[in-house]
Amino acid sequence: MVRSPYFTADHATFRERTREFLAAEVMPSAAAWDQEGRLPRSLWKSLGEQGLLGLLHPRGAGGGERDLFTSVVFLEELGRTGFGGLRAAISVHAYMATHYLALAGGPGLQRDYLAPAVAGERVAALAITEPGTGADLSGLTTTAERDGDHFVVRGVKTMVSNGTAADFHVVAVRTSPDTGTGPYGTTGLSLLVIDSGLPGLTTTPTPTLGWRAAGTATVAYEDVRVPADRVIGRVDAGFYYLMRGLQLERLVAAVLALGGMDRCLDDTRRCLTERRLSGGTPAERQAPAHRIADLATELAAARQLVHHTAWLYEQGDLPATECSMAKLHTTELACRMADAGLHLQGAQGYLDSSDAARTYRDARAATLAAGPSEVMRDLIGRAVLRSGPDSPAARGGAREGA
Ligand SMILES: Cc1cc2nc3c(=O)[nH]c(=O)nc-3n(C[C@H](O)[C@H](O)[C@H](O)COP(=O)(O)OP(=O)(O)OC[C@H]3O[C@@H](n4cnc5c(N)ncnc54)[C@H](O)[C@@H]3O)c2cc1C
Repeated sequence: MVRSPYFTADHATFRERTREFLAAEVMPSAAAWDQEGRLPRSLWKSLGEQGLLGLLHPRGAGGGERDLFTSVVFLEELGRTGFGGLRAAISVHAYMATHYLALAGGPGLQRDYLAPAVAGERVAALAITEPGTGADLSGLTTTAERDGDHFVVRGVKTMVSNGTAADFHVVAVRTSPDTGTGPYGTTGLSLLVIDSGLPGLTTTPTPTLGWRAAGTATVAYEDVRVPADRVIGRVDAGFYYLMRGLQLERLVAAVLALGGMDRCLDDTRRCLTERRLSGGTPAERQAPAHRIADLATELAAARQLVHHTAWLYEQGDLPATECSMAKLHTTELACRMADAGLHLQGAQGYLDSSDAARTYRDARAATLAAGPSEVMRDLIGRAVLRSGPDSPAARGGAREGA
């Protein structure tokens, strides 16, 4: 039975199918991939064959053009695997890097990059962050200088998820020194598709605390010559596209966090009910039971916020404030949930090899990636204060522009 206004019987069937696929194709090897810091090519291929890398993408590029709640189902189930690196790698590929190709890429880019990415034949990364700046896009310094029918790219990008595996990168570059605001917001930025095999591009793996299967890397571009037709959309309009893409990125992060918390809560519940203390199980003591009660209640509330935000997004306006609220609340709650999960499992949870330890490490990444919590609070605070107490923003129904 479907017990939500947002999901239909078709979504329920899709959830079952996705869960079976992940149980068969992912769960047996996910821990090994996390340790190795990479996902195998065969996984990308089978995700592509199942249509799971292009649920939102246009049919012309092999995508499914499915409704957003089909993606919500997929991402919740991906989150429920409990493997943060796996879910980061797949979501960066399917909902972040390739989103820009679907949003503004011309027919040539959709044929040569989006379609193979949807099929799982080419892996995509998104390279925005630099050693000197992350949250503040106006500070980006990687340049792309026009030289005939090419751009010459110079600069360094860090924290690139899928960086070690990617066949191509969607890269935020400065095409004009102008950082003032214009018709596209902060002007001077463009999005460029860069093949990872081009001369002058070097990739250095950068091991991280969590999200290990995502193969994070630092990528240096030293006079990399990129054909000029690899610009996504319009030159100097990159900031405008990023502001749109970041809303989806934050919503996706929130949905993944929901699934991750379902898994974390379930693991903790199992441990509390199975472990024997003198005089019963920990679940029979009031302190752990109350802690679980608080977390489960917060998770239930978070789920409503995220699903409502997805519904607003589906209506066609960009619910920017809600995307920030959903990302802020779920990723911070996931950290508290992971902390409680580790603690309530006792020393077993603290073992480096435990699921609780991996969940704890992975949860920390999500409050930083796609914009740190402080930036989410800045955006929400500005929207609420600008609009006043009776505003849509304060009631959770804002329609913030990009
Ligand atoms: C695991 C992981 C994967 C990532 N994957 C990618 C990826 O695939 N591609 C990519 O381009 N980037 C990626 N990132 C980078 C991520 O987007 C940045 O970490 C994020 O935007 C913050 O940028 P920064 O790390 O440079 O921090 P900075 O912008 O230097 O900020 C440092 C700290 O200052 C504080 N701060 C920043 N801004 C404000 C503010 N306005 N008000 C108050 N305090 C503030 C925050 O505490 C913040 O953590 C990833 C990050 C992580 C952790």
